[in-house]
Amino acid sequence: MSVSDTAKHLTEKEKDSLDVAEGARETEWKQPSFVAQLFMGRFRTDLISPYPNQSPEDKAVGDEFMGRLETFLKANLDPDEADKTGEIPKKVLDGLAKLGCWAMKIPKEYGGLGLTQVNYNRAIAMVASYCGSTAVWLSAHQSIGVPQPLKLFGSEAQKKKYFPLFAKGAISAFALTEPIVGSDPAQMTTTAEPSPDGKTWTINGSKLWCTNGLVADVMVVMARTPAKMVNGKEKKQITAFIVDKGTKGMEYPTRCDFMGIRAIQNGVINFKNVQVPTENMLWGEGLGLKLALITLNTGRLTLPAASAGMSKQALQIARKWGKERVQWGQPIGKHEPGAVRISNMAASTYAQEAMTYYTSALVDRGGADIRLEAAMAKLFCSEASWKIIDDLMQLRGGRGYETGPSLRLRGEKGYAVERMMRDSRINRIIEGTSEIQHLFIAREALDKHMSLAGDLLNPKAPMGQKLKALVNSLLFYPFWYIRMWLPTGIWPCFAGYGSLGKHMRFVERNSRKLARTLFHQMVKFGPKLERRQMILGRLVEVGTELFAMAAACSKAMAVEKENPDYQCSRELADTFCRQAKIRVYQHFLGVCWNTDLNDGKISQKAMDGVYEWMEKGIIVDDGQGFKGKK
Ligand SMILES: Cc1cc2nc3c(=O)[nH]c(=O)nc-3n(C[C@H](O)[C@H](O)[C@H](O)COP(=O)(O)OP(=O)(O)OC[C@H]3O[C@@H](n4cnc5c(N)ncnc54)[C@H](O)[C@@H]3O)c2cc1C
Repeated sequence: MSVSDTAKHLTEKEKDSLDVAEGARETEWKQPSFVAQLFMGRFRTDLISPYPNQSPEDKAVGDEFMGRLETFLKANLDPDEADKTGEIPKKVLDGLAKLGCWAMKIPKEYGGLGLTQVNYNRAIAMVASYCGSTAVWLSAHQSIGVPQPLKLFGSEAQKKKYFPLFAKGAISAFALTEPIVGSDPAQMTTTAEPSPDGKTWTINGSKLWCTNGLVADVMVVMARTPAKMVNGKEKKQITAFIVDKGTKGMEYPTRCDFMGIRAIQNGVINFKNVQVPTENMLWGEGLGLKLALITLNTGRLTLPAASAGMSKQALQIARKWGKERVQWGQPIGKHEPGAVRISNMAASTYAQEAMTYYTSALVDRGGADIRLEAAMAKLFCSEASWKIIDDLMQLRGGRGYETGPSLRLRGEKGYAVERMMRDSRINRIIEGTSEIQHLFIAREALDKHMSLAGDLLNPKAPMGQKLKALVNSLLFYPFWYIRMWLPTGIWPCFAGYGSLGKHMRFVERNSRKLARTLFHQMVKFGPKLERRQMILGRLVEVGTELFAMAAACSKAMAVEKENPDYQCSRELADTFCRQAKIRVYQHFLGVCWNTDLNDGKISQKAMDGVYEWMEKGIIVDDGQGFKGKK
């Protein structure tokens, strides 16, 4: 059953988008997921504890590589210069190639470094803490560009052809977005048509904002291939192709210029009758979007790693400045607002790392479904690091707003907080905006309910299917619902966590409350719950905070086990959990007490121009985005 079948209230275009998204979903949960269980009110401590620490051998590999990378970056790359000129110098790109940075995750047998996900993410975090643009060059190439989908879905021949090129420094890109295709790939207009003999495909269309695209030696291009009839219904097909640079018909009309990460090479790419051999198709016809989503499960982890790296940098600057800068007779870190900011930075950064490296370690270890954990890590860390950098800017006062080079010119330390701010903002938008993460997580959170009871809500479902769903629901829900009210985590269940046990108990209690609330909202709204995105979003935020709390406590226990005298980790996990609890209460409160419906009405009126009178006294828009005089 498709989700759109249950939703009579949707327009045809909305159903179309939903069908395409549903078609690309991984429908099965073959392996356990801590977060998926959490949404069903089951707090599986065995899935989060013990914390999956990096092995000493793997850590040594990462340390050695990061040592070389750090030395190279400090000696060769000036991030302020890159920001000003909009260029990463060739010697830096070549040096990164010599270090093997364009083949970090490529298996050793193909000439790559074969780094684990944990070591790769550690490296990206370090680069991001220094130069956002360089981190994006590396991550667009490796997390979503050709290497990752090739690793997961490439044929042996494709791997043999392309992997060694990356080991030599070839750079790749990923082209999905188009002028009218952002979060909604169903509207994709770039097409790929097969030749009559089936040997080639001809790509036509235009891609927008393709990072590395202007310089990439090779890229993954998503295109619509001819639709197929499935169960009497036309099904849109999106297929992925590997396209080599210089293929006839590729044009690069513009380089885009952004608020931050100004040294990335990102632009528009036009495809005019670009011929690609069929052997360059990745995975199979119609599997492109699924490929993109699965690739992003792990690829997406680079963003939380980068966000955590930037947060650590912010903390480093804040702790020094908080002590050094004295105003009104006190260091500014001692004034309460400053103290709260620095404490929040430390606690939140701790949780960001706990979530990111828990999920990354599971990727390396295997045996777990991490799609929800990765999406939550991306959502949480990109939002949290933005807040941290904003707090750092406030703490630095005027110096936060001044550029690094300008500070240096006046003889001060050149901390480029404004550059960090500009560079970090994009993390809430790329690889799925925060709103799209909410939708994605909510859909997966509801999956068990959909598969059990979905046919009951589907007007098109045959009577036999409806009856089956009814029986399944009657067998499942009464017992499940009663269990959602019964505490299972009372003392001494979490005694092993010591003083953090109370937080684990909170997570257990509130995972049941989360599951109940989700269920109540389903019963209340039925298929229309899909429209109540703010309610779903709040519940996703609750789940995310609970995951962050559990990961932070689990990490603290693992750190203490390794170093029994080390108390600081527990303090940070404890502080994070106290702060997160307040947010959990607020989100739950917001489910019942909000202004969402009224906001919807006001927003509609605003869009209809009802409040246009408020715009008097400002410069009137010329309809061209203030083009001004040419
Ligand atoms: C610097 C940069 C680098 C990029 N790199 C790449 C790249 O390498 N390859 C590539 O293919 N793309 C790339 N992109 C594109 C990027 O992935 C998109 O910008 C992103 O997916 C969002 O799409 P959009 O900007 O069209 O926003 P839209 O989809 O138009 O969304 C606008 C707003 O509406 C919200 N929204 C949209 N749909 C919904 C919904 N159903 N419910 C609630 N809210 C919704 C969004 O969350 C957002 O807040 C890049 C973009 C930038 C700016």
